Amino acid sequence: MTAIRLQSEPAVPATGRRFRAYTVKHLDALVAQAGLDASERLAVRAVATVLPFRTNAYVVENLIDWDAAPDDPIYRLVFPQADMLPPADVQRIASLLARNAPDGEVAAAAHEVRTRLNPHPAGQLALNIPDLGDEPLPGVQHKYPETVLVFPKQAQTCHAYCTYCFRWAQFVDEPDLKMATADTARIVEYLRRHREVTSVLITGGDPMIMGADVLRRYVEPLLDEGLDHIESVRIGSKSLAYWPQRFVTDPDADDTLRLFGKVVASGRGLAFMAHFSHPRELESPLVAEAVRRIRSTGAVIRTQAPLIRSINDNPATWAAMWGTQVRMGMVPYYMFVERDTGPQDYFAVPLAAGYRIFRDAYRGVSGLSRTVRGPSMSATPGKLCVDGITEVAGEKVFVLHMIQARDPDLVGKPFFARYDPDATWLSDLEPAFASRFPFEPDPEELPELLAPALFEPAG
Ligand SMILES: *Cc1c(COP(=O)(O)O)cnc(C)c1O
Repeated sequence: MTAIRLQSEPAVPATGRRFRAYTVKHLDALVAQAGLDASERLAVRAVATVLPFRTNAYVVENLIDWDAAPDDPIYRLVFPQADMLPPADVQRIASLLARNAPDGEVAAAAHEVRTRLNPHPAGQLALNIPDLGDEPLPGVQHKYPETVLVFPKQAQTCHAYCTYCFRWAQFVDEPDLKMATADTARIVEYLRRHREVTSVLITGGDPMIMGADVLRRYVEPLLDEGLDHIESVRIGSKSLAYWPQRFVTDPDADDTLRLFGKVVASGRGLAFMAHFSHPRELESPLVAEAVRRIRSTGAVIRTQAPLIRSINDNPATWAAMWGTQVRMGMVPYYMFVERDTGPQDYFAVPLAAGYRIFRDAYRGVSGLSRTVRGPSMSATPGKLCVDGITEVAGEKVFVLHMIQARDPDLVGKPFFARYDPDATWLSDLEPAFASRFPFEPDPEELPELLAPALFEPAG
């Protein structure tokens, strides 16, 4: 595996350096290293006007196999691909860039393409923001009774972006598409009034982009008296894969770990929800050290990722990932289905193929890895797990159940959908042996117009 370095970078290993992001400014120089010619690079830049791009020296120098680029899975994980968007859109924006069109004109074209990419899967904004008193509580989602999600204002970016990100709309320059909070006092008040909440998940972007002092402002209030019903604080993060220095050599690494220890000392679980997409992300000794240090605080690291075409769509990749995670003391948690937003057409794996990949990986690992669940679709009614493909009374069907449900009564009950080898999302499925899915309203009881919203993907 060959490492590359940007011309402007000093010859210091990425491991000893302070974090610095590479952005669209560096994109052309970086993709040139993958052997792309000028017109291919222009198309990549066109895609990067629509979808967010950001990476860093650690990803570029330690994770990507440049000999294999542009087909390398980690290259595909972070670099935009020319064919991620419809060719007509790419051509249109590429020609604007080629003739140095004014920024406003490029931005308007990019905006128009984004609006066709389902930037805010329905339900996410409308259905999940709770009220405190008479006012909404922005930057908070409360979808399942026991878990509240918090999106800190200062966590609205990541150490690098994944090309398949379902929250991509939060990272482009469209202020009205963002959701975030800095109002911890109101969050605490909300939690005081909601004793059914046992888990608070701090998410983003990536909460670990925040320095220890800012992160502390979101975490410590959750340990307050009067919040004894909070059993666990979760932090959703890709930092172990994209910038493990955060826990080892960064100036606030030790302070961060002390904060984790403080959560544990309060008698709560600190669940570090680590996003790993590919086993290569686990290989560096720096990751091993970061994992060791996080675990030494008493925190538990649980792992999750979506199943993505051309990045991790084979059983050996998942089996290797789960096995290595268990070896390192981490707990496999979820395999997700790529959501119905952004370049989903490009990355989607059909549910039937996804189920087979899950099962082929699952049957080859020890029981300690079989804590993982999936493939799971986070859709408006809840998290739907594809349990299998079978034949019932002569009909080929998918067997599904809800891992999480807006209506908790539906959790864990099996149901069926007609087999369709091409279905990639809930909206492609039809109920089998029933006129509607269990999470669909009885048409007798609800105006018909409301029903289609339930098929949209959501947080
Ligand atoms: C997945 C998810 C959660 C957490 O669910 P668990 O099954 O407890 O991991 C909470 N809120 C939303 C919106 C989710 O998608």
